[in-house]
Parts: sequence; structure tokens; C-alpha cells
Amino acid sequence: MKVAIIGAGISGLSIAKKLSEKNNGFVIDIYEAAPRSGGRISSFDWRLKNETIFSCDNGQHFTIGAYTNFIELLDKCDALKYWSRHTFEWNMLKLQGDELQELLRFRLEKLMLFKKPLVPYIKFVKTPTNLFFLKFYFSLFLLKRKFFNERSLNYLYKTFFFSNATINLFWKSFVENSMNTEFDNSDLSTLSFLVNECIKDIPNSLEILMPETDYYSCAIKPIEKHLQKNGVNFHFNSLVQRIQPGKKIECRGMLSQSYDTIFLAVPGHIAAKIWKKSGYPNTKESILWENQKYRHILNMWVVIPSLQAENIYHKKEESFFWNPIEFKGSSYVVVTQKKTREFTIVSIIRSACNNVNSRKEEEKLYEFAQKFLYKQYSVNLKHLDYKLIRAKRATIACTHDQCKRAAIWSGTRTGIKDIYKCSDEASFNYPSTIEGAVRAGYSAAENIENSISS
Ligand SMILES: Cc1cc2nc3c(=O)[nH]c(=O)nc-3n(C[C@H](O)[C@H](O)[C@H](O)COP(=O)(O)OP(=O)(O)OC[C@H]3O[C@@H](n4cnc5c(N)ncnc54)[C@H](O)[C@@H]3O)c2cc1C
Repeated sequence: MKVAIIGAGISGLSIAKKLSEKNNGFVIDIYEAAPRSGGRISSFDWRLKNETIFSCDNGQHFTIGAYTNFIELLDKCDALKYWSRHTFEWNMLKLQGDELQELLRFRLEKLMLFKKPLVPYIKFVKTPTNLFFLKFYFSLFLLKRKFFNERSLNYLYKTFFFSNATINLFWKSFVENSMNTEFDNSDLSTLSFLVNECIKDIPNSLEILMPETDYYSCAIKPIEKHLQKNGVNFHFNSLVQRIQPGKKIECRGMLSQSYDTIFLAVPGHIAAKIWKKSGYPNTKESILWENQKYRHILNMWVVIPSLQAENIYHKKEESFFWNPIEFKGSSYVVVTQKKTREFTIVSIIRSACNNVNSRKEEEKLYEFAQKFLYKQYSVNLKHLDYKLIRAKRATIACTHDQCKRAAIWSGTRTGIKDIYKCSDEASFNYPSTIEGAVRAGYSAAENIENSISS
């Protein structure tokens, strides 16, 4: 059976992995528009002022212990050895004027006495908020039970159970970064699912996995190598324009052989374009792809030479610091840092931007970065290597409206026989994540198995 996969992002690679495991005599061709695999988790070569070339991720990605399918995929492709696990530490800061104030700091630790251990270790709380942790636990419990079914998160503000402190100090930045959606518009049932996944095996599920260098070298390349060894053919620089009758792929004006099955492993807005150009009729799935709403991510990378970064805030190597910072009233950015021998790489991330506010957010991010870096590291942004990545349509938005109308869950079917679709929005309940993309890839591959067995 001849199979074509359009797109070598993590979802396309996952389909190939699943099918190549089956020994069903599949001939698998992957068509990728870019010169390398990885899609949104690929990386690029960045030439620094001192001429060093550094392989930099497209944006800072977080892999948590709860991404079980992605981690298993890394393991199967012998890539897990390039990854390390870090304790999760939460450090909430606030930038007010020029002052950087620490609001809350804790880390999750295991205490074997309890069956479901969730033991926050409060290291330092500058402004202790009334019963913060009690309310934090309680909010976890309520979300786990989907207590507030069918409501948007904005509703939480108005409830007695959630204090504004728990929302502002924890939930806002957690939601905006894990679902890439503005807190006020986010869907509660999607969050409940995420919370459940995270709670299953705490603190392991909330540990952060970091690649030794970048995602491309430590995940994508080993997966690609593994697939090539198993006979999968990669066609890079191959932008697919349309699918022609007989399931032939049109690419750079050339037609491929006929395929038995085709997978569109691209986000909905791209699938919709290919669909139209191929002259396929509208189906209920293809209409969904067109209407899906996305959010942008702004990611600023800053490289600080090691000597200048001596006075860094966090020195503990074994922890991964997640620093949500509140500034200008309502905006949240997350700052992370990673050390190499030569430099410290700081990533300043603003998630959940919609079209309307992304320009404004960009200006605010620059202003924030200048102040923050000066305050924290005594360095001037203008003298450093830095790069702002604007990831447009970074991921799907899990807004309440979109989830309620099921406009987000396109599933893996297309309404046309033997053509399937997958990407990070095709996976029910784990959208906009690497894990969702892997799950979607696996379930798309199952379609083909089901059709063979029937
Ligand atoms: C800045 C940023 C930060 C993120 N942070 C996180 C995070 O912390 N944690 C997390 O879990 N997720 C994060 N994500 C989301 C994560 O990157 C995606 O969910 C995941 O990579 C999606 O994979 P995919 O295979 O579904 O799609 P993609 O990676 O988009 O893959 C699609 C592939 O198809 C190719 N393609 C497109 N059109 C064509 C065509 N016509 N012909 C041939 N090929 C084509 C593209 O080049 C691409 O390689 C982030 C995303 C961004 C952008």
C-alpha cells in the first residue's frame, strides 16, 4: 500500500512511525515544504555577533512529563538520552515601574506518605496571600471534577472558591502558556482535561524535559533517522500544491505516482487551501478547518555572555525555572533561562496574542525586555544578540466559543475516503501541543489500519 504524508512536522512523523511499526508493507513518502523536518518545532542557525553559529529553537517549547506519547516516541527512536528532567519551580514576579518584585515561589515535591502526593514546597513568599495554597488545592479539585461545566474561565473570577490571588498568581499564566489562549476566553473543559493529565502522576507529570541543545537535534533528527532506517522516504523542499485525480500529489509543477492513502499532516488553515485547490467539495470537516481560530506567540531570544550573566537570579542547575511575570496590569510573560558553557540563553515569551493586539504586545515586550534584563542581569539589550520570533498562527485557540461549537476538533477524517487529516488541533482535548500532535498522528494512522481490517 502506497501512503503519502503531506508535512513532516511532529504529527506527520508520528503517522510514519506508527505505520512503519506495522510491517504491513506500506511504502511511505513524506512531502515537506521546508528543507528540513520539524515544522513548528524545528530550529534555525543563528550567527551571533562573535561569529559563533548557534542552533536555536523556533520558539521556546516546554515538554512536560505528562506528554507520555511524545516521550515514548523519543524513547523508541533512541532520542531520550539527549534529554534531561528538571524539577518544576514556579516563581511569580511582578514588574512595577522599574521594580521587580517576587510574589510567590514554590516547587512541587513528592512525599510518599500520600497516595496522590502534591506537596508544594514554599520557598519564599514575599506577599503571602490569604490561604493561597488551600484555595489553590481547592481550585485544582474543582477543575478536576469539571465542577463549572460549560463555562468560560472568566466565570472563575466571580466565584467564591477561587480567590483573585490564585487566578492571578497561578492560573492566568498557566492557562495562557499551556493553551495559548487568553485566560478570559479559555474553555474550562479543555483546562479540566489538562489538569487531570497533570495531576495523574505529580510531580513527575509536571517535570520539565529539556533537550541538551535544541528540539531539532535532540528530537526531530533522531526520529527522522529512525524512520529513514525503516524505509520511509523524505522529499524536502516539496511544497504540495494540490492533490490531483488518482490521488497524485502535485508538487513544483510535477505529478507523483498514485497513492492509496494520503494524510494531510498540516494545520487546518493550510489543509483548507490544499483542499480548495484540489477541487474537493466542502465537507463538514473542511469547513471547520477554514473557521478555526489561532493565536500568535511572541518569543524573544537573548544571548548573554557567561561572564555578564554571573549575577543571575537562579543558580540551581537541577531545576527548571518558570517565571511568569506580570507587567502593565494584565499582560503575562514567561521568562526561562538555559546555561551553556559560553552563554546564558534567556527566552521571553508572550503567548495568547490575537491578531488585534499582537503589534501592541510586541512593543510592550521590547520595553519589558529592556527593563527586565537591566534589572536582572545588569545588561543592556541593545549590546546583546537578540531575536524576536513572531510565530503567527502558532497554535489553535482553545476559546470557550470555539470549543463549545466544536469548531476546534476537526478529528482525523476529511469526509473523503482514504484522505485523512491530522495536526495538533485534530486531537480531542490535547490541542495546541506537541503531545496533541503526536496523539493526532497516531489516531490518524489507526484509520488506515481500521480500513484494512474492515
Ligand atoms: C513559538 C511556539 C511555541 C510553542 N510552544 C509549545 C510548548 O511549549 N509546548 C507544546 O506542547 N507545544 C508548543 N507549541 C506548539 C507545537 O509546536 C505544535 O503543536 C506542534 O509542533 C504541531 O506539530 P504539527 O505536526 O501538527 O504541525 P507543524 O509543526 O506545523 O507541521 C506541519 C508541516 O507541514 C509543512 N507544510 C505546510 N504546508 C505544506 C505543503 N503545502 N506541502 C508540504 N508541506 C507543508 C510545514 O513546513 C511543517 O513542517 C508551540 C508552537 C510555537 C510556534
